[in-house]
Amino acid sequence: MPRNRHCCVRCALPLPITDELRTARICGSCLKRPPPYNRVIAPWIYGEYFGHLIHQWKFQRQRRMTALLSSLWRQEINLPRPVDVLVPVPLHWRRQWRRGFNQSELLARQLLATCPELKSCKLEHRLVKRSQSTSPQSGMSARQRASNLRGAFTVREPCDNLRVAIVDDVLTTGATVAAMADVLAFAGASYIEVWCLARTPAPGH
Ligand SMILES: [Zn+2]
Repeated sequence: MPRNRHCCVRCALPLPITDELRTARICGSCLKRPPPYNRVIAPWIYGEYFGHLIHQWKFQRQRRMTALLSSLWRQEINLPRPVDVLVPVPLHWRRQWRRGFNQSELLARQLLATCPELKSCKLEHRLVKRSQSTSPQSGMSARQRASNLRGAFTVREPCDNLRVAIVDDVLTTGATVAAMADVLAFAGASYIEVWCLARTPAPGH
């Protein structure tokens, strides 16, 4: 599985290896419009094999795979920067009820249980509420995703000066985590990272 080593320092978008990349590793869209989170950690590039693993985990309900996926993350990220809380991307209750679990929450729990560096970090899986049932996003453009998610999240408590890591499985356009980061920053969070397993390359790459 390809590792995501040459990527934007802000949003982890895989970038072509060029001379410029050695000096300024930031993608065009982050330069034009910085995202509402400080950085994304996504150690793998989402491709056929990773897609197969994620599909088995989420849709075939192979919950035992959480340990494997968490160790794939750990294998590439030796020392996660400590944050105060991990906030998994919430599912709308109806979707969670149908699937039986929230895969991002399973991943966050596994990371907390297996990373000694995170021992002072807490899981806050109820901090952000998905207040609307949004349409499934695959096949939507970045703009469609952003409008699909408008008003989708609310924060239940103030987050003054909180350092947050949003946990997600795969980052595609980043619209979901950007919508979450917006509400967390508005509630007072001072630093927001996004931790996910894999990042999809830009369309056409
Ligand atoms: Zn970027």
